[in-house]
Amino acid sequence: MEILGKYGKEELAILYIARYDGKIIEFVESVQPPVTREQKWVLILSTLYGCPLGCLMCDAGEYFFGRISKEGMLAQIDHMISPRFPDKKITMSKFKIQFARMGEPTLNEHVLELLRELPKIYDAPGLMPCMSTVAPNSSKKFLNDLILIKNDFYPKGQFQLQFSIHSTDPDFRHKWIPGKIWSFQEIAEFGNKWYQPGDRKITLNFAVASDSIIEPKIIAEFFDPKKYFIKLTPLNPTSNVLKHKLNSGITKENMKDFILKREFEELGYETMISIGNWEENEIGSNCGQFATHFIEGDVKIKKDYTCEDYNLLN
Ligand code: SF4
Repeated sequence: MEILGKYGKEELAILYIARYDGKIIEFVESVQPPVTREQKWVLILSTLYGCPLGCLMCDAGEYFFGRISKEGMLAQIDHMISPRFPDKKITMSKFKIQFARMGEPTLNEHVLELLRELPKIYDAPGLMPCMSTVAPNSSKKFLNDLILIKNDFYPKGQFQLQFSIHSTDPDFRHKWIPGKIWSFQEIAEFGNKWYQPGDRKITLNFAVASDSIIEPKIIAEFFDPKKYFIKLTPLNPTSNVLKHKLNSGITKENMKDFILKREFEELGYETMISIGNWEENEIGSNCGQFATHFIEGDVKIKKDYTCEDYNLLN
């Protein structure tokens, strides 16, 4: 793997752009102040070279050049681990590996191979994989296999699963996530198979635009607050968000008393507004943006770049 660029701040997040197998990838390591790196360290991997799904607000969907091999994902992890832990003993109590940078992870079966091998490769008692999916129809086999992997290799709450669903209105949801995706009924049926006592709650994530249609009562018809956690995320200013003239529904001003959060809480859901760092949003450094710009030959790197994705799956 050839590292083409390294940007960021040691005390917050570092983004790497690399060439692997002749194609461009990006990956991130981050900490979440005031939590120290010794307490929690998050690695965010790319699983595809771009993404074929082309979600409305995401720059990773600008192109798709295939799946990243297990070795390609391990190379990303190793690049971040080796300087700090050459002996592969990772000591922090929470060590998250998020499959959440470029690419819908359920489209890459190599992710499953990697998950089976990670506990054998690294001595990391705090290891917690975090999978974020928009639940494409084709993910059925992957997600069913993932249940077995979670139960066999990551028991007792050591695995985090997120469905990014974005809206309770099917048309709105399809506008944001083109292609065929699971209905809420299908996600809920899967959630019943997934969830075991002691597991972490399944996250339902909404990136909230000012015109988003999100009805907490519809969520309550399908998803039990004992098994599901709600995450509300500001819409980040990706190139596609700007191109489609989308505005974030969550802002610095309204987030302290965000009505939607209260409505979910009144229905019994643990609910979080997941903000990154507003400074980072202003810098405009979001998932897929760097690799896309790199490929287009117009990377505009700011020296003080920091990555906003570090709190993607808190
Ligand atoms: S949001 Fe995820 S699934 Fe959608 S285009 Fe981006 S990487 Fe792909």
